[in-house]
Amino acid sequence: MPKFVYDFTEGNKDLKDLLGGKGANLSEMTNLGLPVPPGFTITTEACRHYLAEGKTPDGLTAEITAKLTALEDSMGKQLGQADDPLLVSVRSGAKFSMPGMMDTVLNIGLNDDSVLGLAKQAGGNDRFAWDSYRRLIQMFGKTVLGVDGELFEEALEEAKHAKDTTDDLDLDADDFRRLVETFKDIVREQAGREFPGDPREQMDLAIKAVFDSWNADRAVLYRRQERIPADLGTAVNVCSMVFGNLGMDSGTGVAFTRDPASGHQGVYGDYLQNAQGEDVVAGIRNTVPLADLERINADVYRQLLAIMEKLENHYLDLCDIEFTVERGKLWMLQTRVGKRTAAAAFRIACQLSDQGLIDLDEAVHRVNGDQLAQLMFPRFDAKAPKNQIAKGMNASPGAAVGKVVFSSEAAVEAAARGEKTILVRRETNPDDLTGMIAAQGILTSRGGKTSHAAVVARGMGKTCVCGAEELDVDVKNKVIRVGETVIREGDVLSIDGTSGAVYLGEVPVSDSPVVQYFEGALAPGDGDELVQSVHRIMTHADAARRLAVRANADTPEDAARARRFGAQGIGLCRTEHMFLGERRQLVEDLILATSDAERVTALDALAPLQRADFHGILKEMDGLPVTIRLIDPPLHEFLPDLTELSVKVALAGADASEKDRRLLEAVHRLHEQNPMLGLRGVRLGLVIPGLFAMQVRAIAEAAADRLAEGGSPRPEIMIPLVGSIQELEHAREEAEGVLAEVGGGVEALIGTMIELPRAALTAGQIAEGAEFFSFGTNDLTQTTWGFSRDDVEASFFSRYLDLGIFGVSPFETLDRDGVGRLVRIAVEEGRKTRPGIKLGVCGEHGGDPESVHFFHEVGLDYVSCSPFRVPVARLEAGRASV
Ligand code: PEP
Ligand code: MG
Repeated sequence: MPKFVYDFTEGNKDLKDLLGGKGANLSEMTNLGLPVPPGFTITTEACRHYLAEGKTPDGLTAEITAKLTALEDSMGKQLGQADDPLLVSVRSGAKFSMPGMMDTVLNIGLNDDSVLGLAKQAGGNDRFAWDSYRRLIQMFGKTVLGVDGELFEEALEEAKHAKDTTDDLDLDADDFRRLVETFKDIVREQAGREFPGDPREQMDLAIKAVFDSWNADRAVLYRRQERIPADLGTAVNVCSMVFGNLGMDSGTGVAFTRDPASGHQGVYGDYLQNAQGEDVVAGIRNTVPLADLERINADVYRQLLAIMEKLENHYLDLCDIEFTVERGKLWMLQTRVGKRTAAAAFRIACQLSDQGLIDLDEAVHRVNGDQLAQLMFPRFDAKAPKNQIAKGMNASPGAAVGKVVFSSEAAVEAAARGEKTILVRRETNPDDLTGMIAAQGILTSRGGKTSHAAVVARGMGKTCVCGAEELDVDVKNKVIRVGETVIREGDVLSIDGTSGAVYLGEVPVSDSPVVQYFEGALAPGDGDELVQSVHRIMTHADAARRLAVRANADTPEDAARARRFGAQGIGLCRTEHMFLGERRQLVEDLILATSDAERVTALDALAPLQRADFHGILKEMDGLPVTIRLIDPPLHEFLPDLTELSVKVALAGADASEKDRRLLEAVHRLHEQNPMLGLRGVRLGLVIPGLFAMQVRAIAEAAADRLAEGGSPRPEIMIPLVGSIQELEHAREEAEGVLAEVGGGVEALIGTMIELPRAALTAGQIAEGAEFFSFGTNDLTQTTWGFSRDDVEASFFSRYLDLGIFGVSPFETLDRDGVGRLVRIAVEEGRKTRPGIKLGVCGEHGGDPESVHFFHEVGLDYVSCSPFRVPVARLEAGRASV
């Protein structure tokens, strides 16, 4: 039977799968000799068993008993012992941090008897003991027994109101004693049972509640947002309680070994005297900066700094820490390698390498493509006039502009209407998650950089300004007051998560310094530390990577930008994009042609335009390969909407124009039930005489012109949606004929896309006619799963994500097992037939970090993605190689 419970002395930081992040790090700190209150961790395996079977695994209770007894022995007191109670916290802790999303119950072991013992042990501090007891009933009632938490909050508010105060600190022991009775009544009425006085029953029920909280709505939503797999389960940490609320010589805080926003080393964090941990994270009272702890208790402060240094040197990274001071003694409650902003990640990686703590290979691993993408977000235009109305903390960077909303629901509704919003709250709590996802940015008037809003927003890469205290946020009446200014729901605010500034009205945004660097407008030596860090990491990643990176681009402008961003060619030029706008008319003429002569006329009209397009792109990409894909989509995409046209013709009756009648007839003829599987790709080329030939001629002539101008064009002609070698051969013959006709010394590779399962499975044959393959993983995903790429994401994907059928949409991250298998087969068989065959990918996955690692593993030559993703793909290709 597996071991389900580990003492803090038995684990270590590498056991996160089993013990969760919190449990593994509590063990690690215990082993480092740091002051951690003793306790034990129940494994994620026990949780998974419980969630699957609906009951705890055999033997778990006995193991818990054994560990609890050992804990009691070491502490010299028993759980809930009447005269001197051992109290414990029961905390969730999954492999990946999910701040505030799952449950925690503190002060377990208190009941009507032990509350008196606790008061006595606390030196007659009745207030503390009764406050602790009411907190237990409140937390237990809410999380374990499912009572609406608002009812407890209201009772607490009433108690404060009765004393004409708004501060918990003004309530005394008698107030809390009365609240305990009120809270018990609430539990009895709402849960239909008494609050359990038996300490072990409290503990066992709390453990199950933590297991259950893995599937709480907000946890499910958070996991989906953060791409955390749904089947990991959470560990449960049972830890002896230490108290930060024993008086002003006690307190609780959060610390970072470096600034999680800028990356700079120093003393960063928040401290709150006479409080329990959840008070800080919930942002309930405003904290003081950690540096103030030096004044409050210099010994503890020095000890904390020494521990922070030890932790950073041990983990070789930024650590964040939760700690409690109990009557002047420091206790470590948690540490982990801390979340950080994207900018801080790049800076810290370079700083650690400068300090000699890690090498540059490791520095490249310490950042990722998603972070780089965040740094490429636009920011507020420095020169634009602004009306700053407040300044809060720069909790999560970026520039967000939107209409003010005061509730999660309003943010979600506005997003559904396509409106941008700023979610404004006094403070957020985990129930605001849906609104935080829907809004452009989050603004709070209370709470520090470690408040819920800040932690969650940073994790999501969402712009957030928190603790903007000048703002008087009245959520009930949907109004913000700041000085003379009144801001109502629907008014526009602009918030700067990088500086913390809040502006009234819309501020224009401009390119980020990182984009300016990629554009070549800002040199690495220009003094911007972030740009310098990005430059160093990118240089190392580029030197290390094996995969080349190309761009998907259809215009000379996009091609030029892609090249500035480091693209080593074009992997996909979608020629159909060149037939939009005014040129649609010409395609219509082609479709409506009823004779060879009409068709030739239509093609002749298109040819010079195509030639000019290709000339521009080949010029921008001079010397680099440019893969031009012949027309792919179904023709009806170029025709008017069937219903609209039918109505128009019907209304016109006998007056309908000849053109409209012919159009309607063509729309009917070309209408397909499932156009993605109809007349498109190579099929079009084989059915409409002269279409492919016109395109190949335009490519060849453009390349010949470039040669004549002294350029070195490297066109590659790509045939889409091929399923068999015969299709490819027909298209190829036609293309070769045209190339020979044009002559002029033009050389062009001819290859195909692999985007149908049959193409992948017969890649050995297809390679005989193809000088390159480019995996079209959008269509390959669609055709492998049988999912229509245009329909399914809106219809059933969210249910599939809930059920854990996939952790992330297979259109976003390549499905390694299915689609990936086809890619592997095609790579292997294609190379067997033609060892030097060039292999790339041009589906959306080419710019997805996780998928890039897969393409590296299977040995492709390049990935191709949209110009803005090129730096991301370069970085991830480097990370895959080091
Ligand atoms: C693909 O299918 O992956 C591809 C790149 O082609 P398109 O998205 O244009 O169908
Ligand atoms: Mg395709």
